Amino acid sequence: MSNGPIRILTIDDEESIRTSFRLYLEDFDYEVLEAKNGREGLALFTSEKPDLVLCDLRMPEVDGLEVLSRVRESSPDTPIIVVSGTGVISDAIEAVQCGAWNYLLKPIQNFSTLHHAVEQALERARLIRENRTYQTQLEEEVISRTQDLQETMEDLKNTNYQVKMSEERYRSIYENLQDVYFEILLDGEIREVSPSINRISDYTNKELIGDNVWQFYPRREDRERFIDDLKQQGYVSDYELQLRDRGGRIIPCSINARLIAAREDRPSIICGTLRDISERKLAEAHIERLAYYDALTDLPNRRLLIDRLERDLARARRHKHYGAMLFLDLDRFKNINDSLGHHVGDALLEEVARRLTSDLRLEDTVSRLGGDEFIMLLADMGTEPSTAASQTQAKAEQVQKHLSQPYKVLGHDLHITPSIGVAIFPSDDDPNEDGNDILRHADTAMYRAKDDGRDLIRFFLPSMQAAADQRLSIEKDLRFALERNEMQLYFQPQVDGKGQIVGAETLLRWQHPEKGFISPADFIPVAEATGLILPIGLWVLEMSCWQIKKWSDAGLSIGHLAVNVSPRQFRQPGFISQIHQVVAKTGADAQQLGLELTEGMVIDNINDTIEKMQGLKSMGIELSIDDFGTGYSSLAYLKRLPLDIIKIDQSFVRDIQTDAGDAAIVETIIAMAHHLGLRVIAEGVETDFEFDFLNQRNCRGYQGYYFSRPIPEAAFTSMLASNKPLPLD
Ligand code: C2E
Ligand code: MG
Ligand code: MG
Repeated sequence: MSNGPIRILTIDDEESIRTSFRLYLEDFDYEVLEAKNGREGLALFTSEKPDLVLCDLRMPEVDGLEVLSRVRESSPDTPIIVVSGTGVISDAIEAVQCGAWNYLLKPIQNFSTLHHAVEQALERARLIRENRTYQTQLEEEVISRTQDLQETMEDLKNTNYQVKMSEERYRSIYENLQDVYFEILLDGEIREVSPSINRISDYTNKELIGDNVWQFYPRREDRERFIDDLKQQGYVSDYELQLRDRGGRIIPCSINARLIAAREDRPSIICGTLRDISERKLAEAHIERLAYYDALTDLPNRRLLIDRLERDLARARRHKHYGAMLFLDLDRFKNINDSLGHHVGDALLEEVARRLTSDLRLEDTVSRLGGDEFIMLLADMGTEPSTAASQTQAKAEQVQKHLSQPYKVLGHDLHITPSIGVAIFPSDDDPNEDGNDILRHADTAMYRAKDDGRDLIRFFLPSMQAAADQRLSIEKDLRFALERNEMQLYFQPQVDGKGQIVGAETLLRWQHPEKGFISPADFIPVAEATGLILPIGLWVLEMSCWQIKKWSDAGLSIGHLAVNVSPRQFRQPGFISQIHQVVAKTGADAQQLGLELTEGMVIDNINDTIEKMQGLKSMGIELSIDDFGTGYSSLAYLKRLPLDIIKIDQSFVRDIQTDAGDAAIVETIIAMAHHLGLRVIAEGVETDFEFDFLNQRNCRGYQGYYFSRPIPEAAFTSMLASNKPLPLD
């Protein structure tokens, strides 16, 4: 209803009546609209929406009854009062049936009747409206409550379902759990434990419930720590502990648990899961072994060794004592591997590991670095460098002796010796030395032991490190020396007792662009160790053969040109055919070619050696043993070889004057060589005295500065062409 004045529409064809109504009702602050017939009345009703309608019955065009029913149709709550001149009762009844709320008779005698009827109708309309609003609200309320209720019911149904589901889920998890679910009280009483306990132990869950858990949890401090942690954080996760099974077996376990604090009458409870981590522990142990131990021998590997070494080094510095590292490399182990197979080599390594371990004190470490390299780390060898050194020497000798005892491996009788490098630590002059330095030092010393002839013990000295560094840099540059044309051949004449040239030796020279001349004594061992000797040796051989061809084309007679052959070169399988090829390719006369071999390489594998030497001999090549006397071979042994010449090592020649022993050795060598039908060349002859001594003892071949230094091709060629005996000074 609008907020303005109450509006009344009066429909009557008599203007006087309308006016009188209006005047009267306006006194009560009603606004009165007038319509002079039914049609106009309906139009106004629709457009103005009055609060009450006063309507005549008898009117032209649309009469009152129609107005009544149309108004009731469109707005049933709008009160209509019929004011009619007909006093016929049936008219009144019909009007009420059509929707009139009241029926007044015209002419109105007492206007207060009209006022009263209007007031009454309006009040009734108000009540109806109120009632209706209330009703509607009520209905809405009922509808929404019903809806709520339905939703709640639905929720409840869902919840019920979910509870059921989660119960099912829980049960199936509980019953099929790999882990063990448990609930225990703080005093250890087991309230609940899932059947899966039987999977990891001998117990069933039924027999455990009610028992005390601490009996399976042997260490008191463990359980106190467990409870403390739970109380402090409210939970523990991946908490590792060891449980004891019925038979006493220990089960490594991991626990995730929460403490649920006491509530009302319920005690605090620990609930959680327990997992058997035996497999994980095994895997961890396995991984640890793989990471820190050598798979073949089960000895600590390099990584663990470095760890222990750092530890020992720190300890030695703290306690001011000395420790030692022995770096052991088995001599000629490769031969065993190559000739008998890796399974024999492996078995031998295992036996070596066993011997080394048995020589060990508790605080020492034996490690395998790989291949045939082993390390012994000796923790405390004394507080004085000298005692440490002598104790270490003694220990190294003991190990050397032990390892050199014969081996019986997979049906083979084997013999092997170690080369041992020793580093004492901490070094007095390098405070920054670390584990890797020590390892490098011991390695360097071991190389020295190898170079000095194997089966030896050598201590690391700082000067060795310099040599090792030098060796590295040589190795780097040596790779490119040939292609950069830095190599050159020199020739040193070999003469007879009259100074007449009967041959020459090819000696390699390396002119390094920065370092200048590098002695073959320094780079040949490096080339040998790295394998570079193969291309280098082949090059020397080829150049020497070209040279033979060149001189013979020039009509010059060289006798023999001797080429040094390195052990590695000689041992390679295709060596003989390589020589064939070079000779064929260069067109050199093989009769003029000589090869210098060393004692070591010919006694290494005697059968193969003899075969190879015979192959060379059959080509007409002259064979000599270089540096004779420095090795261990006896002349009798050499008897079996198809040899031509023995070259007495210059170290003996040099000492002829001062060392009676060496003089005697030289004499013997010459005599026995002649006895065996071999020729002799004395190397390094520098003085009158040496020449005279040798000459008097029937030595017929000489090489040395006394006659000529090694010289380049051009100088040698003119020396050869002059055909004069070399000055005996
Ligand atoms: P080597 O075969 O015993 O050669 C003799 C060495 O003694 C040469 O040293 C030579 O220059 C030196 N010499 C000769 N006469 C005298 C003398 O009167 N007094 C002194 N003090 N020394 C003398 P070089 O040329 O330094 O060669 C050293 C070693 O290097 C050679 O010893 C040989 O083992 C090796 N070598 C040199 N060239 C080659 C090569 O082409 N191939 C291989 N595999 N080794 C080579
Ligand atoms: Mg030589
Ligand atoms: Mg020599």
